[in-house]
Amino acid sequence: MKFSYIIRLLLILALGSACILSSTLARYTDEYTASDSALVAKWNFRVGSSADNLHNLGFTFDVFGGEALQPQDYGDNTFFISGGESDVAIDYQVYMNVQVLQTDIGWSTSADDDYPPLIFRIESDSETAEATIEDPYDTWFDLQDIAADEEGYFLIASGHLEANSEELVPITIYWWWNTSYYTGTPNPDQSDTGNYYAEAVADYNILVNRYDACVHDANAFFQDHQRIVTNVVEGEETFTVVTYQCIEGCPYSGDEAHMNAYQDLRDDVDDAEDAIDNSWKVKYDQYDTKALSALRNLESSSPQSIMIKVSGEQVAPAEL
Ligand SMILES: [Zn+2]
Repeated sequence: MKFSYIIRLLLILALGSACILSSTLARYTDEYTASDSALVAKWNFRVGSSADNLHNLGFTFDVFGGEALQPQDYGDNTFFISGGESDVAIDYQVYMNVQVLQTDIGWSTSADDDYPPLIFRIESDSETAEATIEDPYDTWFDLQDIAADEEGYFLIASGHLEANSEELVPITIYWWWNTSYYTGTPNPDQSDTGNYYAEAVADYNILVNRYDACVHDANAFFQDHQRIVTNVVEGEETFTVVTYQCIEGCPYSGDEAHMNAYQDLRDDVDDAEDAIDNSWKVKYDQYDTKALSALRNLESSSPQSIMIKVSGEQVAPAEL
């Protein structure tokens, strides 16, 4: 009996039976094939959205929670990997595929990796069974510098489940619409006071206040320095004489000095306006507008889908 058991186990290993689950955003498609002999040992590798919702055939997992993406949105979603008390130990790998999101939104003509401004972070947080998250996907990463295979998959996590393990290994995908990773300096601070967009809005408001002050100063100039133009007719000739009624202590003497001073104030207004146009808030808004348009086009041609592939391989028992 003992001999027969070992033969059967070896048979399983020789078949190399593995459970490969792949999915679009919405659905896992099971490619698991088993033979009768493989059923001698219990093989119950599964994935699912909760302990009560584990499947080896397919399950629904929606990274973005079914919502249309909007600027600054963020969220997370978790799925679980289970050995399901299989008789054998299991090595598993988790792959992600974001190819469909890697579509150029046409932000700049020089770069072709202006993608929708989404960033991601993978976590496996559990007291009992954690997966190892691949560097650099354990911190925020964008869509621009991903080293994927030909099909677009890249390894985000891996781990080991002992034989008979009933642990649930959580894999959490955090996502954030963070335009600072695509134009500007990446700002990963998700605190209430440090949100990249809130910071940009605060800077923008300062620039708007400065612009208003410059406009006010320019508008006030001719109130403080009243320019009086008089036409003087002498015989057949007409002269224009410009004089000023100024506030006390006016430092300008003559029309040219006044007009130069006024032009300086107008230049300040133009500079303040340029500063607003070049502010991060305005750039983020412009980038986001293009991204939203690109995502809408994407949605009409194909679903916005992130693909997850989970594979598990049986590991030979140590005594074999
Ligand atoms: Zn004056």
